[in-house]
Amino acid sequence: MTVTSAAADVTGGEPAPAKFGTVFGERMAIASFGPTGWAPMSVVETDSVSFGPATHALHYASACFEGLKAHRRPDGSVRSFRADRHVERMRQSADRLCLPVPPTDLLSEMIAETVAVNADITPSPPGALYLRPTLIGTDHDIGAAATPSAGALLYVLASPVGEYLPPRALRILVETDGARTTPQFGVVKTGANYAMALSVIRAARDEHGADQVLFAPDGVIEETGASNIVFLDGERLISPALTDAFLHGVTRDSLLRLARDRGWQVEEREVTVDEIVELIDRPTAEVALSGTAAVLASVGELVVRGEVLSVGTAGQSPRTDELRSALTDIQTGRVSVDWA
Ligand SMILES: *Cc1c(COP(=O)(O)O)cnc(C)c1O
Repeated sequence: MTVTSAAADVTGGEPAPAKFGTVFGERMAIASFGPTGWAPMSVVETDSVSFGPATHALHYASACFEGLKAHRRPDGSVRSFRADRHVERMRQSADRLCLPVPPTDLLSEMIAETVAVNADITPSPPGALYLRPTLIGTDHDIGAAATPSAGALLYVLASPVGEYLPPRALRILVETDGARTTPQFGVVKTGANYAMALSVIRAARDEHGADQVLFAPDGVIEETGASNIVFLDGERLISPALTDAFLHGVTRDSLLRLARDRGWQVEEREVTVDEIVELIDRPTAEVALSGTAAVLASVGELVVRGEVLSVGTAGQSPRTDELRSALTDIQTGRVSVDWA
């Protein structure tokens, strides 16, 4: 495992210059699970971690992760955003993958500790410290295809980041045949789900110049390969209602709260491709992807049944911009609310 030291490239107050997710903090919190349960966490050098070739997670995908950010505030302190929600979601992912479920206190402490030891390399907004809690099955046993790993490792990787997506509206291919994953695994944040979607996303890129794929099995919209989706029409926000088929984003939840606080009409329900094809024709229509890395990214075009459709008035996304600023104001401590 090769780890680039961030300290040489990033100083507090400057945006991270490297590609998102390619520079790592030198230290991170780690804890292992063995026959006597969870060992106390410790802080180690990030590049001191290594895995054997027979590691269970590498063969049988006993692995899940989280993604959250810590932001530098006007007073210089660094705070993670809604870490409790990410801890809870990781516990759910672990449970569904038959991995040892990390205690809430342990994982919360590990996130806080990783933030503390990487505070000095956390860039100022719009940069942030991206945190990647990771849980893997560690048994060295390639015969354990039908057996959960008894041992596990939990660590919180840190990466100083800048913007995740290009500063332009995205083109999204709407896929109405295949699903992103299985109906039960949509709520699990696991690499296997991403692997399943890769060939579809690659084909969408090669054949249609699409940035991502929106999965809508049988014409019912779920989410894209790595983010949730919201549709806006003036002061009206529509988002697919939560099911086990797709990931329940903390960003999505935050945006819906902000929209409700503004008195906008928020609709969480089944959303069909046919309905959206009509909606995006309106001059006030906007489409946006939500997730921790991307925050809220504007979608300019949808490719539906081979046809490229423009969303609303090309280039205009005032409600998306308003929600994004409202969210980043809270994340960076410029505005405080009682739920974050
Ligand atoms: C992580 C993730 C999201 C976004 O979740 P946030 O909590 O908002 O970061 C959405 N969809 C998928 C598939 C994801 O893995």
